[in-house]
Amino acid sequence: MKDPIIRIENVSKQFGTLKALDGVTNQIQRGEVVVIIGPSGSGKSTLLRTLNGLETVSEGNVYIDGVNIVDTRVNINKLRSKVGMVFQHFNLFRHKTALDNIIMPQTVVLNRKRKEAEDVARKLLEKVGIPEKAGNYPDQLSGGQQQRVAIARSLAMHPKIMLFDEATSALDPETVGGVLQLMKDLATEGMTMVVVTHEMGFAREVADRVIFMDGGQILEEATPDEFFDRPKNSRTITFLSQIL
Ligand code: ADP
Ligand code: MG
Repeated sequence: MKDPIIRIENVSKQFGTLKALDGVTNQIQRGEVVVIIGPSGSGKSTLLRTLNGLETVSEGNVYIDGVNIVDTRVNINKLRSKVGMVFQHFNLFRHKTALDNIIMPQTVVLNRKRKEAEDVARKLLEKVGIPEKAGNYPDQLSGGQQQRVAIARSLAMHPKIMLFDEATSALDPETVGGVLQLMKDLATEGMTMVVVTHEMGFAREVADRVIFMDGGQILEEATPDEFFDRPKNSRTITFLSQIL
């Protein structure tokens, strides 16, 4: 087995008396696309958030590209530029244009000159399919377009890993497909991706591996075919019967 780009070792996360993560261990290889599914409250978001330092862990270790990010000396900006995250609700700056949303983190975090950052931003707006929206503010964009800007903003940091937390859950049905296609293109280009989603079509088609979580634990993981056609864990079976 090659060196994994993500190594999660016996990670637990406690919120008061609640164990949001309970002894999670997993390894993700470079270029792998892992889809995480599971009921609401099962710890999916908490797990993603621990991978880019948005959440500290109560126990265990998380290695990103060989660096233990639980170590308090880790440079959080460096980590966040390595590990991009896309959220359900885009989290764009409302008072900045699409272009400026993509420029800002580059100048702030990577110290890029404005001109260079703008060139990167324009190329990425092209890549995500909305070059003509550079001057629009978030509220002048559809949900799908805002999510494209958010993805471009993450990509501008040249991340090694992209995390998607229900990135299409807040979108109108007619814009979901375009964003999923964009995610699929990223996967095809070799991006390492960890994707929390309810889109089982995407999981089946794009995932190399599907992980099922419940109660803060990984209860099952398998290739998509195995996972959807021959689930083994009784809670996986119940969950799939409810959503498929
Ligand atoms: P999922 O994304 O699978 O729906 P989450 O990871 O968001 O689940 O949450 C897992 C559990 O941790 C839930 O019970 C949730 O209420 C709790 N939780 C998440 N974040 C916090 C927080 N900041 N403070 C307290 N409890 C939290
Ligand atoms: Mg969540």
